[in-house]
Amino acid sequence: MRYQHSREESAEILRRALQLMSPHKAGYHPVSYAVWYEHAGDLNPALTQELDKLMAADSVLSDAEICRLHALHIAGRDVQAFELAKSQLREVLCESEKQAAHAERTVKRYSVNLDDAIQDARRNTEGGAAEWVEKVAKVMAEASQLQAVLTGLHQQLARQRQEVDHVMERLERAQTEPLRDPLTGLKNLHGLRRALEARESAGLTGIAFLAVDIDYFKRVNDTHGHVIGDKVLAKVAEILRGHLAGEAMAARLGGDEFAMFVPVDCLEDAAALAEEVRATATRTVITRPDGMQYIGAVTLSIGVAIGEPSDTLESLRHRADEALYDAKDAGRNRVALAPGNPADSSAAS
Ligand code: GH3
Ligand code: MG
Repeated sequence: MRYQHSREESAEILRRALQLMSPHKAGYHPVSYAVWYEHAGDLNPALTQELDKLMAADSVLSDAEICRLHALHIAGRDVQAFELAKSQLREVLCESEKQAAHAERTVKRYSVNLDDAIQDARRNTEGGAAEWVEKVAKVMAEASQLQAVLTGLHQQLARQRQEVDHVMERLERAQTEPLRDPLTGLKNLHGLRRALEARESAGLTGIAFLAVDIDYFKRVNDTHGHVIGDKVLAKVAEILRGHLAGEAMAARLGGDEFAMFVPVDCLEDAAALAEEVRATATRTVITRPDGMQYIGAVTLSIGVAIGEPSDTLESLRHRADEALYDAKDAGRNRVALAPGNPADSSAAS
């Protein structure tokens, strides 16, 4: 299912959606609601882009306009995804058809030759053995050609079945996995994985992974309640976003656990960035919405690891997490650095 938020998360999105839709002329019907819900939950980047543009131009959206956006970006998205899958499947099946037709022609030729050889043998039982051997050899050559074609066809079909599985898997993922965390607007773990797919195949060398976790976050929830806890999470996301440049990315991996993924020249640069993020959090005062009390600052513990040739996203994240535990053990509100990947150190020695 596309909408996988908890009851609390979806209630928050609903609140934001209602707020956003109220200035417009469109009615409060399910089509209109779906448009604003997907926008408020940051579930549909293309829709959000168009809505942002329309709202920047101060447009008041009519029913017809909302229906157009729904058809294009919500109903249309499924149609587009299926159209894409259909055309890719069609290509794959066309290729199989060509191979099958080739195999069919070869089998036909083989049968004709075999039949010829049998007829000849019947007619020339007294004929020379040399001519007969020639005929059998020709049939055998056809047989091995046929076998090669069928082996090729078999391998081709196996490859194409894998391709079809891959297309289906991507389609299913696109339908079921939202890529953003609705509370903070950052990428979620799926979003981070998706963004890194291309990068990971080119290697993670020179990429720093910062595992960021709020210190004593349970206390914030216990003292001020979950709504304020959510506000703190959004604030931390804002701090991380404020330290992104170029191709750097930030994600909320779950709970009070965040990650930054940053191209750097060396571990020292990554450590300096982590230190800036940590220091910014200690200076950021978070207030309650009622203005009566303030929460104060939250502190962050950060584990830093830098990618090496044999790293995958999982191994890099694991080392950053280990460093994060070190930072927590050493008293929190600090940055700890991970050692290099043991696989690469032993390769180098
Ligand atoms: P530590 O310094 O060891 O990290 O202590 P901690 O209290 O921060 O412990 P931990 O990281 O395990 O706590 C995470 C808490 O985050 C537990 C859970 O109640 C809370 N949490 C998880 N998701 C959400 C959320 O979406 N909103 C709010 N408000 N709280 C959440
Ligand atoms: Mg924590």
